[in-house]
Amino acid sequence: MQPLAHVILKKGKEESMERFHPWIFSGAIDRIEGAVEEGDLVSVRKSDGKTIAYGHCAIGSIAVRIFSFGENLPGDDFWKNRIQQAYKLRESMGLTDAPDTNVYRLIHGEGDGMPGLIADYYNGTVVLQCHSVGMWLEREAITEALKAVLSDKLVAVYDKSAKTLPYKADIEAKDGYLYGESSVGEVLEYGNRFKVDWLEGQKTGFFIDQRENRKLLATYAKDKSVLNMFCYTGGFSFSAMQGGAKLVHSVDSSAKAIELTNENVGLNFPGENRHEAFVADGFDYLQDIKDKYDLIILDPPAFAKHRGALAQALQGYKRLNANAFRQIKPGGILFTFSCSQVVTRNNFREAVFSAAAISGREVRILHQLSQPADHPINIYHPEGEYLKGLVLYVE
Ligand code: SAH
Repeated sequence: MQPLAHVILKKGKEESMERFHPWIFSGAIDRIEGAVEEGDLVSVRKSDGKTIAYGHCAIGSIAVRIFSFGENLPGDDFWKNRIQQAYKLRESMGLTDAPDTNVYRLIHGEGDGMPGLIADYYNGTVVLQCHSVGMWLEREAITEALKAVLSDKLVAVYDKSAKTLPYKADIEAKDGYLYGESSVGEVLEYGNRFKVDWLEGQKTGFFIDQRENRKLLATYAKDKSVLNMFCYTGGFSFSAMQGGAKLVHSVDSSAKAIELTNENVGLNFPGENRHEAFVADGFDYLQDIKDKYDLIILDPPAFAKHRGALAQALQGYKRLNANAFRQIKPGGILFTFSCSQVVTRNNFREAVFSAAAISGREVRILHQLSQPADHPINIYHPEGEYLKGLVLYVE
């Protein structure tokens, strides 16, 4: 790897680098020596000229995403070594050879020292999602590294970055296979079968991040009437059925999601009539569910995609949860989530607290949930903590 330019920081602005924060904001830069384009590899230097890191530059307030700290230039095996580390970590979690689970997140951006890169493993197919042009330009090298690390566990690599790259970059990325080819696949999560469509589905095809929370849900489901609101591929619905729920209703505003949910229920529980799925708006559906359900899951899409939308997002969480609190059966259990990165754990808890207060019900927190270990949070990059959940008992 050779840097194409040098980014010189303003005096004193190297502090966050010294604490391994992987982003350099444009305001911290004194000057750039050399011509740079979006995505180029650059070295980062202190005002005295000493090199302290290497990263990819980008247009926007995050001007450089660092993937290597220190003076030494990353070598040719850099991506292979990083991906090997990420793989070893998943191996130590028991995810790479689990008998009943073959879907997991292999690379989680900053959490794995690879800012701007997501890689999800679907029973042989790795789906890449680049959030920075720098990572996208490395996609061939990353594919080679994946082949070296995963060896015969790798069937195909699919690049699904067209929608996640910054639109200002103005590059015409097209989704497609970088290695091999595979058809829409079936994966296993704790023994439940899921059809995953990485070509057309949301994100990389499946919300892997709810795996452990879905497992927990199963332990609460016995003989319950369950509402899985914002169900997408139906994950929480099967966990509820696996756990012995007597009735499960899945709701999503997307007809395609409901189709997938029904298909997946058919795969896992053929011939059963405990489950029904509806295409509906979540806020409308929750207007009229008085005493219908004793277990409700609320897993909405991110209400705030940026800081400016925070106040409105909190109102949204409050309204949604208040409806659930008001109407859930006495002794009910609510699993409620926020996946908005800008909503902090405290923000979310306060919104849910306000919702409980409006309903006038007595509420207890049973579990405080998070993203699973294969979505690790770099301790120097707290922004990486995005999934928050509460399990509540409603008297
Ligand atoms: N719980 C799911 C992931 C949910 S993702 C899982 O475990 O896999 C959020 C889902 O909310 C998406 O499927 C999206 O189609 C749906 N959605 C977005 N806005 C909605 C609305 N207003 N009403 C109902 N569903 C909505």
